[in-house]
Amino acid sequence: MKIIIFIYVILISHISAQCFYHPNNILSSIENIECTWDSKVEEEKNNSISSREISGEVFKIQLSYCDADSVTCDKVLKEFYRATNLIASIFIFNTQIYVNVSYYDLCTVYPDNICNDLSGAAYPTQFYLLQDDDGMSRLYPQSLVKQFQFPNTPKFKEFDISAEFNSKGDFWFQEDLSNIKPGQGDIFWTICHELMHGLGFYNGWMGYKDNPIAVIPLPVYVSPDGTVPKSYLFSFDSSFVEFMMDKYTILLSNGTQISIFTQQLNTFFDEYKTNAFSDEFVSSPQFKLAQDLLVLATTPKSLGLLPRNSLNYSSDSFILETSIPFEQGSSLIHPDYKTYISTSDFLMTYKIVDGVTTDTMILNNGNYSGGPIGPKLKQIMETFGYTTADNPNPYRPQPFKPPPSNVTSRPIANLGFKLEMIRNLNILIIGISLYFQIHRFLLNNFLFI
Ligand SMILES: [Zn+2]
Repeated sequence: MKIIIFIYVILISHISAQCFYHPNNILSSIENIECTWDSKVEEEKNNSISSREISGEVFKIQLSYCDADSVTCDKVLKEFYRATNLIASIFIFNTQIYVNVSYYDLCTVYPDNICNDLSGAAYPTQFYLLQDDDGMSRLYPQSLVKQFQFPNTPKFKEFDISAEFNSKGDFWFQEDLSNIKPGQGDIFWTICHELMHGLGFYNGWMGYKDNPIAVIPLPVYVSPDGTVPKSYLFSFDSSFVEFMMDKYTILLSNGTQISIFTQQLNTFFDEYKTNAFSDEFVSSPQFKLAQDLLVLATTPKSLGLLPRNSLNYSSDSFILETSIPFEQGSSLIHPDYKTYISTSDFLMTYKIVDGVTTDTMILNNGNYSGGPIGPKLKQIMETFGYTTADNPNPYRPQPFKPPPSNVTSRPIANLGFKLEMIRNLNILIIGISLYFQIHRFLLNNFLFI
């Protein structure tokens, strides 16, 4: 009996590479789904490409939907082209990256209280759970997983990155050859910022309960063999998973990896076998760690990203945003605004300066050769696994296990479970002051959430 169970577990673990799909909706949660392995079927890239697209050598941008006039739609596409050309001039991609862009009145889809402050958002369309060299498995974005060129891979989603921008946003386009006005945001800045999130500058730290009393990693139940047990479907029983970026997130006070917190928080599930959101969690010894995380997340300069091969964590780290009240999607997922907004690493701070173009920012901040891709950002993307001329042999996590040949590749309906949570605030929204004066307070602060 034991042997049978053992074989069964091996089989399940082989077919159960973990894919986490982000539906094509800013507010939807990511879903843990069974990966498909049908490598023989070519992706139907060519069948779904509309007429309005630009294909560079590396990035393929598809403007799937645009409700603005034709001239504006073309300008949006060109700004994306400019941004991707810049990224491709710094990073070396061996596999093409597909970006799906929509530019429309977001209020036709999203609630008023969200869409009026939203200028755009982008996210990786799919993540893959891969094992790192420290033994932990983390969620890697598809755009990077593709570059690893593993011998066996699940079938990739058609698009690597999804981006939605608000056609009612007050964007400035370089092509207009006019001066940027106060209150306007340079769409190029926003696009570059969002594309970096789409490439994996991304994590899942979230507040626990309203006015958060703690901070936790993204909770998803994945059993030790890498499967999501069917018995957990639609339950909140979950363990915490990390994203690629979390591997390098450290406490600036002593260099400790934040992953230590995730690991220790996960011992709660071993001990309690219960609902993560119950009172039991709050009264558990592990909860103290989640409270400590909230303190770290709201204490200036407490956390940072450590570049590979660094010998000095306090001087080398890319300091993360922990100087604002905890805001999921702003805190921890961006570098520290106060430290970097006046440096060549201004791009990924959680808000942009309105009325100032990207070029002016670059000039004012030292005219860095990489333009808006600052030196620390470049170094961290290299650390994640992206290739550059300076980093020709980047780190790679363990490859996917090959699927056994006798297993069909189709996912079983309902096998995956949907994360019924508030998760979607990892959506990398940029709040923007639009036409509603009630949002006037945002006029000087386009927020990247
Ligand atoms: Zn952002």
